[in-house]
Amino acid sequence: APVVVEVGLGDRTYDILIGSGLLSRAGAEISRRLPGTRAAVVTDANVAAVHLDALKVGLETVGIQPAVITLPPGEKTKSFAHLEEVVDGVLAARLERGDIVIAFGGGVIGDLAGFAAGIVRRGMNFVQIPTSLLAQVDSSVGGKTGINSARGKNLVGVFHQPKLVLADTGVLDTLPIREFRAGYAELAKYGLIDRPEFFAWLEENWAKVFAGGPERAQAIAEACRAKADVVARDEFETGDRALLNLGHTFGHALEAATQYDGTRLVHGEGVAIGMALAYRFSSRLNLASPDDAARVEAHLRAVGLPWRIVDIPGDLPDAEALLAFITQDKKVSRGALTFILTRGIGQAFIAKDVPASEVLSFLRENH
Ligand code: NAD
Ligand code: ZN
Repeated sequence: APVVVEVGLGDRTYDILIGSGLLSRAGAEISRRLPGTRAAVVTDANVAAVHLDALKVGLETVGIQPAVITLPPGEKTKSFAHLEEVVDGVLAARLERGDIVIAFGGGVIGDLAGFAAGIVRRGMNFVQIPTSLLAQVDSSVGGKTGINSARGKNLVGVFHQPKLVLADTGVLDTLPIREFRAGYAELAKYGLIDRPEFFAWLEENWAKVFAGGPERAQAIAEACRAKADVVARDEFETGDRALLNLGHTFGHALEAATQYDGTRLVHGEGVAIGMALAYRFSSRLNLASPDDAARVEAHLRAVGLPWRIVDIPGDLPDAEALLAFITQDKKVSRGALTFILTRGIGQAFIAKDVPASEVLSFLRENH
């Protein structure tokens, strides 16, 4: 039986189901919650090639024959052009507001399909069937949707919560190992934010999480509980939800500094290095013990993730330029910055007054 995690948002509560083989039950789980609806499935070519047939069989058990919209894989798909393609596909299938848009893929498909579901007919029903580890532990939960603009990532979108999230842990067997590791960084993040026992458990059990089996579903369920907790407290990110950005300030700067070139650095790898830097920086500021920073680094290294800036292949801009990516505005570079810092494993907090000069000298030492 799948693990059920409930996301409590007042009257808009929804379930996350986590377990192996869930694709075969997709139709049953959907029709239990949204009876008599029609559906469009949005997916990418990689996922469609290996898992679309299984999903179609699962939907067919309750008579759902979805319109399928298959897009090219990759971050570039989160664009206005592909948004239009999805919107047009949903309208061409003559779906009504009460019908369902199903996102079947990684975070790219989830963000794009969720945005389309949020705006077509002023908001259609939406179901997430995440197929990457990152999407199962992070992007499919919480209702943030959107696309990229030429001026930056994730700048255009809406909050639109799904009615159901189905995380079939078996589909992760076909995920490239590098993508699995990148998703694992976001999984470990929850331990580092406020679940020290979970981080200790991962240090012991990470190899079983990679191998599959019950530990994988257990870890994903714990991550979903952690994310659901934060989202329930702060749906629209006016406060605590920002803790989920642990490792992301440094991480985003490194992604930008590598021109979002996924052959050099994918998002989760940037987050891994960013978390290690956040711990090292916190220790340099005498907030956390150097032993905790070393523990984080050792774990990332053990699972095969990059953990230092020098682990990124190719040339990188100097410390000043990296700081400029962090501030995105040279004027701020003499002022104060908001960072997620930590007092130890599982003790992250939002620091609103970090001097840019401290960040700069830290980056110079750790370049
Ligand atoms: P992705 O969707 O590009 O998937 C990674 C790669 O794995 C793709 O090539 C995809 O085709 C492939 N893939 C996915 N599932 C597979 C499977 N089961 N078997 C084989 N291949 C498979 O990237 P991602 O890492 O899943 O998500 C990254 C995106 O998520 C970014 O755009 C990021 O901005 C977004 N994101 C959103 C949120 C949110 O809260 N909405 C949170 C974190 C990240
Ligand atoms: Zn992330």
